[in-house]
Amino acid sequence: MCAIVGIYGNDNAARLASIALFAMQHRGQEATGISSSCDGKIYTKKDRGLVSEVFNEEALSYLKGDMAIGHNRYATAGRDSVLDAQPIYAKYKLGEISIVHNGNLINKDEVRQDLIDKGAIFQTGMDTENLIHLIAKNTKDHLKDRIVEALNRTIGAYCFIVQSRSKQFVIRDRYGIRPLSLGKLKSGGYIVASETCAFDLVGAEFIRDVRPGEMLILGESDEPESIQLFEPEFRPCAFEYVYFARPDSVIDGKNVYTTRENMGKALAKNDVNSKIKFDMVVPVPDSGVPAALGYSAQSGVPFKYGIIRNHYIGRTFIEPTQEMRNLKVKMKLSPMGSIIQGKTLLVIDDSIVRGTTSKRIVRMLKEAGAKEVHFRVASPEIKFPCFYGIDTPTKEELISTQMTKDEVCKYIEADSLEYLSIDDLVGAIGEDRHYALESFDGDYFVKA
Ligand code: AMP
Repeated sequence: MCAIVGIYGNDNAARLASIALFAMQHRGQEATGISSSCDGKIYTKKDRGLVSEVFNEEALSYLKGDMAIGHNRYATAGRDSVLDAQPIYAKYKLGEISIVHNGNLINKDEVRQDLIDKGAIFQTGMDTENLIHLIAKNTKDHLKDRIVEALNRTIGAYCFIVQSRSKQFVIRDRYGIRPLSLGKLKSGGYIVASETCAFDLVGAEFIRDVRPGEMLILGESDEPESIQLFEPEFRPCAFEYVYFARPDSVIDGKNVYTTRENMGKALAKNDVNSKIKFDMVVPVPDSGVPAALGYSAQSGVPFKYGIIRNHYIGRTFIEPTQEMRNLKVKMKLSPMGSIIQGKTLLVIDDSIVRGTTSKRIVRMLKEAGAKEVHFRVASPEIKFPCFYGIDTPTKEELISTQMTKDEVCKYIEADSLEYLSIDDLVGAIGEDRHYALESFDGDYFVKA
């Protein structure tokens, strides 16, 4: 997961980067960081915590310069340590660089071992550090050529921004698995960000998405220079639309909210022949809301907020024990007893991963007086772990790998359970392209 941002050619670069990261906080809450560049020197500030906690006035005034890159971390590769926060900074033969990365490199272990065998010393557990070493050990005279050669050894899902003392190099992998967009700042200069919701907050106009396999160079001329490094084979991640991205973002030309509404509509179409009379459609907030609205619009079943979410739960309650995990769901979601009492509910969430959330929700609603709870999931069964940058657990932990649909229904104590089919998911996002669907169909198309 993770979010990245680059600001180029604006005197408020670090401040704008922090605002963009704030807009993309949903993509990672573990750690955050920004590197700015000013008068031939790179300044970096990174720490564990939320953007609003880490980037106070003192931090922002330290981050001088008219270019900056930033990152929100959601642990995929590496440990939970401040060392694993990004940007990663290094001094090397040609000067100083700083790198941010969103994605996951599938040949990371092999490349890392090779580098270690040749004497490299690693400071972090992150796959991103491979790129720093590959760039530093290369003997070419220009950073651009070193980056290109490093990328030739890098396989996986990635969006990188490499910042030198005067330029930014923006790269999206040839499949375009993770999103990345380019915008023009109204106050001057350019922005590159994982999601367009960041553009709205900083006052930027969307120009276009970074193309799969493309490198953009900011700083070589007035306009961003584009080089097509790799033959594109576009396979954007479907899970961005299902769960990950903010609904107000437009990813690769598709509005996330609309795709989620379509997912809900498709679920409703499949329920057309159901003999059950649902009294209301209840979303699991916030992730199930657009799909529930779509279901309601398609079926005519009224939409009701039968579950209320407390937005102040924060990270304080991160799961040290099972007891705490149970308490966390209770503290986060509360049933609206007066609305659901004696009713037959159609409850919608975006996905079932381990089955923990859905089980607790069904029980909570029944304890609060719901007569029946029918669960609908606005994505197909997640049967395969994702190695392209989404934090899904191992096969053993994925409930749909371990159980059939009927067994899951029984396990979560629902009165019925239906998922979106893979075809309907593709239809909801748009049939005009291929998607990365490996969590659902096990097609690991990125080959090492
Ligand atoms: P689970 O309780 O493990 O079945 O997880 C399902 C819930 O987690 C759903 O409410 C989803 O909105 C949410 N979810 C789905 N994917 C992820 C993810 N990669 N990280 C965090 N939460 C997720």
